[in-house]
Amino acid sequence: RLVVVGSLNMDLSVTVPRLPRPGETVSGADVVRGPGGKGGNQAVAAARLGARVRMIGLLGDDAHGVELRAALTAEGIDDSAVGTLPDTASGLALIVVQQDGENTITLSPGANHHLDEATLRSLTEGAVANRSDTVLLQLEVPLPTVLAAAREARAAGALTVLNAAPLPGPGPLPAELLRAVDVLIVNETEAAGLLGLPDGPSADLDEEDADWTARAGRLRLLGPGTVVVTLGAAGAVAADARGGLTEPGFPADAVDTVGAGDAFCAQLAITLGLGRPLAESVRRACAAGAVAATRRGAQNALPTRAEVDSLLAT
Ligand code: ADP
Repeated sequence: RLVVVGSLNMDLSVTVPRLPRPGETVSGADVVRGPGGKGGNQAVAAARLGARVRMIGLLGDDAHGVELRAALTAEGIDDSAVGTLPDTASGLALIVVQQDGENTITLSPGANHHLDEATLRSLTEGAVANRSDTVLLQLEVPLPTVLAAAREARAAGALTVLNAAPLPGPGPLPAELLRAVDVLIVNETEAAGLLGLPDGPSADLDEEDADWTARAGRLRLLGPGTVVVTLGAAGAVAADARGGLTEPGFPADAVDTVGAGDAFCAQLAITLGLGRPLAESVRRACAAGAVAATRRGAQNALPTRAEVDSLLAT
C-alpha cells in the first residue's frame, strides 16, 4: 500500500494574452477548474499506476472540498483519513497562464495549512503506516507534520519517500527531516537550493558541481540513503550506497510538463516500494513522467500503468 500525506487543492486556471501588471485587469479565456495539489496529484498518479492508495490530508467544508474528495474516491483511493475542517476553505491555486506558457500561481493553502501533528494523529488513529507500506510526502503541508509523518513511517518500518517540493524558502530544510527519509526526490532547482548552489546555467561552477550525478551523491550526505534528481526532458540521475546512475529518459512530444514530476514521484515510490532495483525504478518513473508531459493539465495528464508499460516496451 502507498500512503500519501499531503496537500489537496482546487486549481483554477485562466489563460491570458499577457500577465497583468499590478493594478491592471486583463481579460482571458474561460476558467479551467480541476483537482490539484502535490499530495492529491501524487495519490491519483499512484492509483492510476496500479497501487492501492491511502490519502491523508485535510479539506475545507466548501464545495471544492466535496469535489476534491470525489476526485480521490473516483480513482479508488481510500479517503478515510482525509478530514473535513469546519468553517475553513479548501486549498486553492489561482493560476494565470500567458499564451507562451509563462505563468503566475497564487496559492491559498486553506485547510492544508491546518494539518498539524495532532490532526495527523487523530486522522490516522495513531498509525500513519505499517511495515509493508511506502509513505510518500511533499512540502505543501506544514513542515513539522511532514517530519512527524516521516518519523512515524520510519519507526513503523515503512519505506519513506520525500519529494522536497516546493522548498519553503532559501534556507536549508531541517536536518532532521532529511535524516528521517529513505528516498529524496528533487528537481534541478530544488537540488541546487538544498546544496546552497546558484540555480541555472552552471558554467561558473567547478566540474564536480556541474555534474548532476555528483550532486545527487552530495545530497545523500544530508541523510537520505537514495537521492533522485529529475532533469526534465533530460531524464534523471540517482545515487545510492552503490554509486550513481544516469537515466536519459524517454523522448516525448511534450505539450505541458505539469504533472510530470508528480507522475515520476508516484511511480518511483511504487517501484522502489516493491523492492525493485534503483535503475529499473528510475527508468519506469521517467516513462511515467514522459507520458504525463504529453498531455495538458495536472491530474488529467497522469498516466495509467498500461501506458507506462507500453512506453517501456517500445
Ligand atoms: P518538475 O516538473 O518537478 O520540475 P521535471 O520537469 O524534472 O519535474 O520532470 C519530471 C520527470 O518527467 C523527468 O525526470 C522526466 O523523466 C519526465 N519529463 C519531464 N519533462 C519531459 C519531457 N519534455 N520529455 C520527456 N520526459 C519528460
